[in-house]
Amino acid sequence: KVVTRFAPSPTGFLHIGGARTALFNWLFARHHGGDFLLRIEDTDRARSTDAAIEAILDGMRWLALDWDGPEIYQFARADRHAEVANQLLAAGHAYRCYTTSEELEAMRAEQRANKQPLRYDGRWRDRTDTPDLPFVIRLRAPRTGETRIQDLVQGEVTVANAELDDMVLLRSDGTPTYMLSVVVDDHDMGVTHVIRGDDHLNNAFRQLALIHAMGWAEPIYAHVPLIHGQDGAKLSKRHGALGVEAYRDEMGILPEALSNYLLRLGWGHGDDEYISREQATEWFDIKDVGRSPSRFDIKKLENMNGHYLREADDARLAGLVAERVAPAQAAGVGARPPLAAPASAGATALLAKAMPFLKVRAKSINELADGAAFLFAQRPLPLEEKAAGLLDDAGLALVAQVRAAIDPVLDWTAENLEPPIKQVAETAGIGLGKVAQPLRAALTGRSTSPGIYDVLALLGREESFGRLDDSLN
Ligand code: GLU
Repeated sequence: KVVTRFAPSPTGFLHIGGARTALFNWLFARHHGGDFLLRIEDTDRARSTDAAIEAILDGMRWLALDWDGPEIYQFARADRHAEVANQLLAAGHAYRCYTTSEELEAMRAEQRANKQPLRYDGRWRDRTDTPDLPFVIRLRAPRTGETRIQDLVQGEVTVANAELDDMVLLRSDGTPTYMLSVVVDDHDMGVTHVIRGDDHLNNAFRQLALIHAMGWAEPIYAHVPLIHGQDGAKLSKRHGALGVEAYRDEMGILPEALSNYLLRLGWGHGDDEYISREQATEWFDIKDVGRSPSRFDIKKLENMNGHYLREADDARLAGLVAERVAPAQAAGVGARPPLAAPASAGATALLAKAMPFLKVRAKSINELADGAAFLFAQRPLPLEEKAAGLLDDAGLALVAQVRAAIDPVLDWTAENLEPPIKQVAETAGIGLGKVAQPLRAALTGRSTSPGIYDVLALLGREESFGRLDDSLN
């Protein structure tokens, strides 16, 4: 049975690189009908925070990356890690090292001076004396031969064992090192496939030495290239390497869009761009992950988000947009109550009705909220500069004509409003757009909006006349 895991260190938010790693592990496990486990690597006590743990769990839930069983907390397993170190010690696969930090520093200085790689020289490897001093436990790693990994992404990678020194397993205060914890946990959790960033490839060779010393089965490795920015440099904050919650909260990205985008970042299935989670689960194979780093392209993500907005259920989008309308509405200046109070059931219903018109071109929830702001603006409307310009004498004259022409319309629908407004344009001998522009300015305070009949229909008869009259008076 396939068992994968995602093992984030809760020292920061779930960034998109981590989210992609989690997604690949999830897809691989689901594709094979296996388990996807979550391990919180909280052993760095100084830098691990509860807020980061919450952000990671929240981000994974948002992206629908459900994990099997309860999440495992690594720090809570420290005794088990120490137990393994002592087992290795008893079996002669590890030894006590009493080298002081001053001695280590002197050793490194000498290696630096001789332009040698910085490595522990194994000075306690074969000593049998046991002074009454603090010690660390080091792995007695093989010194000859080589270690080979058949990596599912990187292919065959080999390292001469002479290049690997005897790594520390247990610190002098008895706490396990990262290398020990990872190997023990992966083994105890029954992890069969380790899929992670290729910044861990070098660690894999050392981890294998430990796995061999314990006589455990090797996992299958897949080291995935990291995500880079548009400029080819490793992704950093500067490139928009934000926590996934920033994509949700600040940029208004839908989880299915981010998930699809991350999937396509480094993995492909022919020319397919839009791939549902179900389809991805069926198609996903780690062997199709590319070997070169992929470039993060925010424009592409936004376009993909636009696609998913148009696919999304209108009531769901209305709920998401309603949360954002309140701050936008605060910009209104009017004394009269708005058509519907933001964040009310009425607001969500109105938004759902407007959604087909709003989502035509929008690329984010934010753009939807911005486009919907006119629905919640309070009279008299604040006018954008361009809109104010449209309401000059000529513009106002047209607004007045439309006002009169639609006055008899009682059954207030887009279909019923269209003929009298067209008639105004015809009578004036101008294009419909010329009429629609000042009308739009008066109704929305803006120079862009959904189609004018739809705007009127959404606002309703009373509010429409109220707004038109405000501009005429
Ligand atoms: N905790 C490590 C990290 O956040 C991952 C370790 C692993 O996947 O083996 O980079």
